[in-house]
Amino acid sequence: MSFTLHGLPISGGIAIGQARLISQATLEVSHRVIAPRRVEKEVARFESAMLRVRTEFEAMKSGMENSPADMRAFIDLHRMILDDPELSEAPKQIIRERRCNAEWAIVQQMEVLVQQFERMDDAYLRERSYDVRQAVERVVRELAGRQHANRLKGAKGERLIVVAHDLSPADIMAFRNHGVVSFVTDVGGATSHTAILARGMGVPAVLGLHNARQLIRDQETLIVDGARGVVIVNPGQRILEEYELRKTQLELESSKLKMLKTARATTLDRIKIDLLANIEGPEDVEAVLECGADGVGLFRTEFIFLGRGDMPSEDEQFEAYRKTVKGMEGHPIVIRTFDLGNDKDLHVADEAPGDRRRENPALGLRSVRLSLSEPKVFLAQLRAILRASKFGKVKILIPMVSHAFQVDQTLALLEQAKSSLRGEKIAFDEDIQIGGMIEVPAAALAIGTFLRRLDFLSIGTNDLIQYTLAIDRADEQVAYLYDPLHPAVLMLLSHIIGSSEKAGVPVSMCGEMAGDPNFTRLLLGLGLRQFSMFPARIPAVKQRVKQCDIAGIEALARRIARLDEPAKIVEQVERLNAWPQQS
Ligand code: PEP
Ligand code: MG
Repeated sequence: MSFTLHGLPISGGIAIGQARLISQATLEVSHRVIAPRRVEKEVARFESAMLRVRTEFEAMKSGMENSPADMRAFIDLHRMILDDPELSEAPKQIIRERRCNAEWAIVQQMEVLVQQFERMDDAYLRERSYDVRQAVERVVRELAGRQHANRLKGAKGERLIVVAHDLSPADIMAFRNHGVVSFVTDVGGATSHTAILARGMGVPAVLGLHNARQLIRDQETLIVDGARGVVIVNPGQRILEEYELRKTQLELESSKLKMLKTARATTLDRIKIDLLANIEGPEDVEAVLECGADGVGLFRTEFIFLGRGDMPSEDEQFEAYRKTVKGMEGHPIVIRTFDLGNDKDLHVADEAPGDRRRENPALGLRSVRLSLSEPKVFLAQLRAILRASKFGKVKILIPMVSHAFQVDQTLALLEQAKSSLRGEKIAFDEDIQIGGMIEVPAAALAIGTFLRRLDFLSIGTNDLIQYTLAIDRADEQVAYLYDPLHPAVLMLLSHIIGSSEKAGVPVSMCGEMAGDPNFTRLLLGLGLRQFSMFPARIPAVKQRVKQCDIAGIEALARRIARLDEPAKIVEQVERLNAWPQQS
């Protein structure tokens, strides 16, 4: 039977392929009855997953001699939990007696233990139920992880469309090399990091479909229309042909736009605009050069190491940064320090104090707050970036600044990193520039604090909108409130850009808004001259820049930013975009 699902349009383009249902790496596990002759094999699978997790704990501990004691204590606690016969022995009995699969068996035992902890009077002991869940989650991930990879192999030439309840950024990174042509999920917001990664990979994606996992079956044919947020399940022949045609047309349009690659991004009144790329790792460099970007405006370093299970060493980081910087062939590159926490973790959530699950992770120990709470880790990253600065034009970007002291402390750590490198006679760029991301309304309002301390600013609209409008950017239930044209957002943007211009401090924008051609004229009119976006968006934005006469729209853009009536703003932005400026 053919039917259509509607969700949030995340990443444009059309994908046609076969559904592959993925259960997330959480405790949502499959329930299977094991054939009697396979029972001992299932026990062995369970034992070997437990062994791998224990070995992983050992390796983590031995690499953490210099880490804080409570970090090591967390690992010990989780190891002890897994060594408890309730979790190490009882699941084997369940597999043998009830013939449950290993995941199901350990989750049943976990439920028993969690209930015991939750009934305890002592608040500390009650909290330990989280540790039990996290320790078991690690084993489940280990059991499921290998199946995940295998399931995603697919037959040769098969076009896989991942259907999941939810996908974390780490999951997306793991799928990167499996020939997945599209993602659809039940939950997730348009500027969640999962959405950003899907766009970066250039694959159509629709999130927030609510019941996709329940309604779609494995292997069913799907059409994903990423621009419209539509998923068609089991389409008929006529619809399939129509979409094949639309897909070809879109590919043709995008290859026409690519012809702008070598054209300069200069407006009709001859103002040069910098169009930069957002990247997640060295493997994106090829796409950046391919689309004719002027450089990298945002390197989200945390993505290289997402899902790997521990903190990368200074040398590992240096290698990744050096490779990226060298690959950029002399173009400037802005390296952002780790923006971990919230929805992005290294799966060290169970051990690192900063990553403990909280009610409001977006407001918690995230980003530069987390980095400053782990000065050794932060110092290692600053040293790695400095070492890479010898190979090209590198700038450092600190995410989510809100307080002056965060900048002061980071600058002090940077000085410390520089002086240690000088002591070791390791070369780096002595004049490296350091900038801050303006993505918290407090920082936008008190912009002078940051203009005085930093060499440049970059506006993170994804978080700025999230925090200004008090909506979780990853929650599809409030996605309808996510509005870049909200009067409060426009007032903040105009204030940041205008103040930076007055102070003579360069300002760029690296949130998703910078890559949306519908906002290009408005932002140019407000004075923005540097835009950073995922590489595939550069040609479309460049086309808009080339058709724009800034002098002719400045007054209207500034008037729009002063309006406080939403309908009027939308009407005036449409008027701005319709303005015939093309010569
Ligand atoms: C932003 O918040 O706009 C931004 C660019 O950072 P991230 O999306 O990585 O949070
Ligand atoms: Mg951000």
